[in-house]
Amino acid sequence: MIRPLVAGNWKMNGLKASLGEVLAVAEGVASGATGDAEMAIFPPATLLYAATVAAKGVVALGGQDCAADADGAHTGDISAEMLADLGASFVILGHSERRADHGETNEIVNAKVKAAWRAGLTPILCIGETQEERDGGQTLDVVGWQLRDSLPEGASAANLVIAYEPVWAIGTGLTPTVEDVAEVHAVIRQSLVDRLGEGAAAIRILYGGSVKPSNAAELLAVPNVNGALVGGASLNAVDFLSIAGVYKA
Ligand code: PEP
Repeated sequence: MIRPLVAGNWKMNGLKASLGEVLAVAEGVASGATGDAEMAIFPPATLLYAATVAAKGVVALGGQDCAADADGAHTGDISAEMLADLGASFVILGHSERRADHGETNEIVNAKVKAAWRAGLTPILCIGETQEERDGGQTLDVVGWQLRDSLPEGASAANLVIAYEPVWAIGTGLTPTVEDVAEVHAVIRQSLVDRLGEGAAAIRILYGGSVKPSNAAELLAVPNVNGALVGGASLNAVDFLSIAGVYKA
């Protein structure tokens, strides 16, 4: 039995006043609104420490990126160790916005995954095709090579979460069909098992891309979908709790 994970990526959104949303999510989780799902919020780094206080120990926290190095002359960067020091247990790596806006290659993401492990963080490794790649019939190839090249040796169900996020579905309101999600997640699962052995059957594979309360039930019921990475809808505690409410018995 895989414990599902519902993760909220706030991106570059949120000021101190937004901590009330973390508090509201924590209260919802404590009252049983999300069943046995694990909940995690990824606020901007500026709010991370305060969010750990508001989360009351019932919602996990994570960073949205980390540097590959542990410390040193890297102005503006934040290391995995710094995130862990603030109370993070996860870090999102290889998000398509980092790949597109900051030129992050699979090799860079691979080094960052190692950095996350070095600091004791669990990376949520994001992979997914662009619209052009989907239109060209390349989805499975793209996801396959991103997974192969971004993931270092040493992965297991205890230290890795994968997020399949079609780039064209992020922030657009568009989603793949449940058949398409099932196909891609099955291929990701198989390639993890081929590379890592049967233990990889327990690695959580999240779906991300325009998940909202109205489509969560059907997307989260797809085989090999073990939770969601939620962007826009995670900014509002009511919507975020409603998505995870799918897992309430
Ligand atoms: C994301 O950025 O990871 C994401 C899934 O965003 P949204 O839910 O807004 O599409």
